[in-house]
Amino acid sequence: MHASEDGPHPHGHDHGHDHEHSALSGNALRVRALESILVEKGYVAPDALDAIIETYETRIGPRNGARVVARAWADPAFREWLRRDATAAIASLGYGGRQGEHMVAVENTPEEHNLVVCTLCSCYPWPVLGLPPAWYKSAAYRSRAVIDPRGVLADFGVTLPEARRIRVWDSTAEIRYLVLPMRPAGTEGWSEEALAELVTRDSMIGTGLARDPAGAPA
Ligand code: FE
Repeated sequence: MHASEDGPHPHGHDHGHDHEHSALSGNALRVRALESILVEKGYVAPDALDAIIETYETRIGPRNGARVVARAWADPAFREWLRRDATAAIASLGYGGRQGEHMVAVENTPEEHNLVVCTLCSCYPWPVLGLPPAWYKSAAYRSRAVIDPRGVLADFGVTLPEARRIRVWDSTAEIRYLVLPMRPAGTEGWSEEALAELVTRDSMIGTGLARDPAGAPA
């Protein structure tokens, strides 16, 4: 079941509809952070929560991951390092710490598309993507990503060639996956900074692709 013709959300389940919006209010971030931490750890002290919120509001988010991807696109040696030892390669750019202790980068190719989920709860590579979007933690995403990944991608507006395999990676407390999306054609010679603008959060989860350079500032 996939690629229906009756719109991007034919199954009517809740994706939160927030995957296009990156600007969250402080309150929304607060709730999200609290929720994530309660899920992951079961407890947090209020002052620790304030510090974490400030960190994730101002310092940590999907732009970190976008810089990692852009470097990998621009620098083959870095891409090899990322595939071999993502934790170290990512740490070399200054991104590391909690929820990112063991990172694995999975590379999209014309033959294979990668999709990341945590079927158990909401494990997510915080240092490179920030806090997980609400839909990532939804029961619908967590269950359907495994059963019907092509249908989930269709819900996100992504239709892949039939021949392209979809590989689903189940995150755990030990391993957090980062998808390395394919570099869009027509970006030869672009700076890393310009390339990073094409890298969306969803493209690093696998529910999206990198932006079309025709619609982005070069
Ligand atoms: Fe989890």
